[in-house]
Amino acid sequence: MFKPLSWRNIPTAKTLSVMIFIAGIGLIVSVVALLYLSLHLVSSKTNEIDEHRSALSVQGAIQTSVNRVWSLVIDNAVWDDAVREVYRPQLNTAWLYNTWGAGYKINNLYDGTFILDERYSVLWGAFRSEPFNEHNLDFFGAGFRALINQHLHALPGEQNIYAGITRTRHGVAFIGIGLIRPVVGSPPAEGNMRRYLVITRHIDTQNLKALGDTFQIDNLRFSLNRTNDSSVPLKSSAGDLLGYLSWEPQLPGVKAAHAAAWEIRQITALVASLILLFIMLSSAGLYKLAKGEKLARSTAMTDWLSRLPNRRALLAQLEALSLEDPNEAICVVFIDLDGFKDVNDIYGHNVGDRLIVEIAKSLRDKVPPSGMLARMGGDEFAMMIGGSQASEMASRFAEQVLAGLNLPVRLGERTIYIGASIGIASGTLLECTSTELFRRADIAMYHSKMNGKGQVTHYDAELNSARERQLTIENEIRSGLMRNEFDVWYQPIVDARSQQMAGVEALVRWPGRPAGALPPDNFIPIAESSGLIHALGQFVLRRACMDLQPFSDLKLSVNISPAQFRDPEFENKVAGVLRDSHFPAQRLQLEVTETYVLENPERACAAIRNLKALGTAIALDDFGTGYSSIGYLRRFNFDTIKIDKSLAGLVDNDEQAAALVGGTIRIASALGMAVIAEGVENEKQMKLLRLAGCDRLQGFFFSAPMPIDALRQHRQRRQG
Ligand code: C2E
Ligand code: CA
Ligand code: CA
Repeated sequence: MFKPLSWRNIPTAKTLSVMIFIAGIGLIVSVVALLYLSLHLVSSKTNEIDEHRSALSVQGAIQTSVNRVWSLVIDNAVWDDAVREVYRPQLNTAWLYNTWGAGYKINNLYDGTFILDERYSVLWGAFRSEPFNEHNLDFFGAGFRALINQHLHALPGEQNIYAGITRTRHGVAFIGIGLIRPVVGSPPAEGNMRRYLVITRHIDTQNLKALGDTFQIDNLRFSLNRTNDSSVPLKSSAGDLLGYLSWEPQLPGVKAAHAAAWEIRQITALVASLILLFIMLSSAGLYKLAKGEKLARSTAMTDWLSRLPNRRALLAQLEALSLEDPNEAICVVFIDLDGFKDVNDIYGHNVGDRLIVEIAKSLRDKVPPSGMLARMGGDEFAMMIGGSQASEMASRFAEQVLAGLNLPVRLGERTIYIGASIGIASGTLLECTSTELFRRADIAMYHSKMNGKGQVTHYDAELNSARERQLTIENEIRSGLMRNEFDVWYQPIVDARSQQMAGVEALVRWPGRPAGALPPDNFIPIAESSGLIHALGQFVLRRACMDLQPFSDLKLSVNISPAQFRDPEFENKVAGVLRDSHFPAQRLQLEVTETYVLENPERACAAIRNLKALGTAIALDDFGTGYSSIGYLRRFNFDTIKIDKSLAGLVDNDEQAAALVGGTIRIASALGMAVIAEGVENEKQMKLLRLAGCDRLQGFFFSAPMPIDALRQHRQRRQG
């Protein structure tokens, strides 16, 4: 089955604009993604950097807290007053309490002070302003023991003040230890008596908050386990993990991103709209292009007049089919209108164009659903159909077209009779090319045309050879005209009563044909269909006028083909020949057939009127072979009617034919027309026809056609 016209399926600029659209959307998405990705990267990097800074700050804060305790130890241990009060067998506990023990309450710089002896036993202590009664170091934890170890291994002369971190029984604390000694000089060395000052400061929410404020760390706090927040581990001076100092990250990246979000959104919107604008502009351009392209394509594929697809479109469709499935059976129906040229000649091209449009419409209505109809140009149409039913559908279509054209076409006031000759060819595109398929349909159509028109012919090989033979003859006629191969013979026409030669009929002969002489019935139709009849007819007319010019008592009959009669210049051509040959118009009679006058009654009437105005007579040839009644033919004002030999030859043994001939003669005579009977072969026929009232007779009984020389001799014999 046919798909709709394949040229409409060729990808167009429309597809391209869809592609651009998709690419544009992709571009927008990736630009936006890129923007947000980089924003995210910058913000998380910023967060990371800030995290690192915070961790450093927290470590700084820890170190600062340790240093503070260390400074406190220096301030309090290197002090002459303290030396005086502690280096004695009995400690001055009142002084100690007032100086250090109460400090917790006063300045909150530390929460515990302790005095240790040279064996690191606690001699005195106050923790949170309460007396501390333990003597061993269990309270102070491993971190403190590590400090003492450092202290033990210190070189003599060193400052001997150490600070660090430990976990006391009370909690995690910054702790410092230092030898109590005078500002200048060594401690009083009574034996190896030593007094050490120990200061602790425990971590609590309050001092962590103060620390956090100082170092700009939010929500700094201590926990035993690592939390989700940012944190750094807190290790004792002994190296064991005490817990974590954690804080709330500030996430400046997130804040920055948040702050920039509005701008980013604006940039995104701007970029997106720019890209969208680009898409729209280029799509609009492409759309225009596509539209133009489609228009150009359809203009190139459409017939301007009938709006049907044109020859190119049909061939393109065939090509597309051959690519799709070369095995599919395809039928081509070729339609050529009969008599269209006359419509153009008589009514003008406007009417011709309107007729084409009307006929195109009526043909289109008959096309099977899967078929494609095209105007091939001029008055030619073609319908193509594929598939297993193609042949049947093509035949049905052709019959419907013929039946449709049987009815006259009405164009405004006018009623036009137009027929068609149709040829059908079928085959697959494996068997023959698409051009060959068209050629075959054309040959079949030509056959219809040559065989009386208004019919359908199916192509076969024989038709092809017949066509080829015709083409050969056509070429032979063309060259024969140039090489003067043609001749004109004359057949006498005698007066029925006196039996005297009254005139002659000029009949063309082709004695010089290289392939052998050919009777006119075999080549005249070919000359007619090829247009060569104009030259050939002109040759016969001119030759006959010149030949017969001297025989002033003889009339001359010359056969005129419908094609010649159609020629608008025909009357002028006849006048020219008469003038050139000095042949009196009154001696000339032109024989025309019924076919032409019936096809174009108006044009025929006009032509006959013009020719009669020149002085020539017009005869209706071959009467009795057609269908017209003499009554109908009367309007054409024929001077003479020639009863055809097929009818006249029957008068001697067919009563019906005899009656018909008799009736015809009577009516013709009554209408003032002369009657010639042709094909008279014997005396009986001669007598019967004469009795019936024929004016003149022609036939082998009197004489066969003869060359001009023979005619001359014949005349001389008669006269002599
Ligand atoms: P037509 O016009 O009917 O010409 C008469 C034909 O009948 C001639 O055949 C003639 O030889 C033949 N004929 C004459 N007497 C008899 C007879 O007693 N019995 C029989 N059976 N036939 C007879 P021809 O010359 O072969 O011409 C055949 C046809 O060719 C003509 O038929 C005419 O239609 C056409 N023709 C001949 N010459 C020309 C021409 O110069 N121009 C045109 N347009 N047509 C021509
Ligand atoms: Ca004739
Ligand atoms: Ca005839």
